[in-house]
Amino acid sequence: MAWRAASPRLGAHLLLSRHRHHRGIASCIDPSAGLTEEQKEFQKVALDFATKEMAPHMAEWDEKEIFPVETMRKAAKLGFGGIYVRPDVGGSGLSRLDTSVIFEALSTGCTSTTAYMSIHNMCAWMIDSFGNEEQRHKFCPSLCSMEKFASYCLTEPGSGSDAASLLTSAKRKGDTYVLNGSKAFISGGGDTDVYVVMCRTGGPGPKGISCLVLEKGTPGLSFGKKEKKVGWNSQPTRAVIFEDCVVPVENRLGAEGQGFSIAMKGLNGGRINIASCSLGAAHASVLLAQEHLTVRKQFGEPLANNQYLQFRLAEMATRLVAARLMVRNAARALQEGREDAAVLCSMAKLFATDECFAICNQALQMHGGYGYLKDYAVQQFVRDIRVHQILEGTNEVMRMIVARNLLQV
Ligand SMILES: Cc1cc2nc3c(=O)[nH]c(=O)nc-3n(C[C@H](O)[C@H](O)[C@H](O)COP(=O)(O)OP(=O)(O)OC[C@H]3O[C@@H](n4cnc5c(N)ncnc54)[C@H](O)[C@@H]3O)c2cc1C
Repeated sequence: MAWRAASPRLGAHLLLSRHRHHRGIASCIDPSAGLTEEQKEFQKVALDFATKEMAPHMAEWDEKEIFPVETMRKAAKLGFGGIYVRPDVGGSGLSRLDTSVIFEALSTGCTSTTAYMSIHNMCAWMIDSFGNEEQRHKFCPSLCSMEKFASYCLTEPGSGSDAASLLTSAKRKGDTYVLNGSKAFISGGGDTDVYVVMCRTGGPGPKGISCLVLEKGTPGLSFGKKEKKVGWNSQPTRAVIFEDCVVPVENRLGAEGQGFSIAMKGLNGGRINIASCSLGAAHASVLLAQEHLTVRKQFGEPLANNQYLQFRLAEMATRLVAARLMVRNAARALQEGREDAAVLCSMAKLFATDECFAICNQALQMHGGYGYLKDYAVQQFVRDIRVHQILEGTNEVMRMIVARNLLQV
């Protein structure tokens, strides 16, 4: 069955390279529409990388649960390890919109790997933005080159959506903090080198939280078993455990009590990035569906001749473009430092991750039974983006943020 294994997996990428001028007409879902020439260049570099370096391996990385360290280091050589980190510490210094365009493009090649890269980029940005000069120069260069990898540690077994209730304690002892507690669901956990950890240095609530940077190998830092997951299999997820783990005070980002605010500022960009990963998966899935409808015949003619399926495809394309506009609008607001940026990021994450999941799922449905086979890429996009509706704040939490803004409650 070599024909099935080769063509549907790579299909999205062969199609991506020729979809822009489908039958001589610009495609209505072209992700380069409205971008500057410079942004089109970043996008082309990222799409080429996704096509050549990621797409051919995405099924194997998923199946064998491979964390593709060397591929990510290659991506970092193109500037994708610290996309919105400042250049003096090795970053690319690009905007949030540029970042979104890049993650969307990379995600067409492997959504799970790109999503991890987005978390890594968020951590590097947090250190760049809230660290002092010494911390920036110590940590950022090796993160931007992806010689080292980072994890973001907020969630705990007893504190998920109510993140400000976290209990991991960091007690001050001279020039150190002594950490006790545990984090759950940490992306990259155990395989990564740098841990950006939110922990309690003060009283209850968000104001008692600080942000510390820990390095792998610190005595008292250990990891749980690797979780078995529905998707996101090219990146490990583990608990991170602290048992009398001693961390120098000089590893604290910002002031004591600033940790929750740092964590949330990281997540504003994180939400745009994860939504961008959903856009890439949805885009690839629309192309796969488009191709399948054209090739597959039932009732004596191509499925593409069926008006019900045509209408569903048109809806998928429309929802994809609407989601992309939301994400890019939020990225611009964040870049401009607008007051409404955080809520726009939440709205974009809510809308894009819900819509893109529905698009990928509909694309799977259009493949019929073949869509349910692992020989076909569409099922992996469905599995990989399901979790985007859950993490970096669930989509219920996104609704809470939007409602609070509207009702001022
Ligand atoms: C694969 C994976 C990777 C992850 N990576 C990371 C990571 O790298 N770092 C990290 O810190 N965390 C990570 N997470 C954790 C993730 O952010 C949390 O799972 C998420 O925030 C939800 O928390 P919870 O699982 O405890 O669910 P809960 O908070 O227990 O929520 C359960 C359900 O109840 C809903 N709910 C809760 N409260 C309300 C409310 N007030 N109103 C309405 N509905 C509500 C939720 O939306 C959800 O649907 C990851 C999770 C997964 C699955």
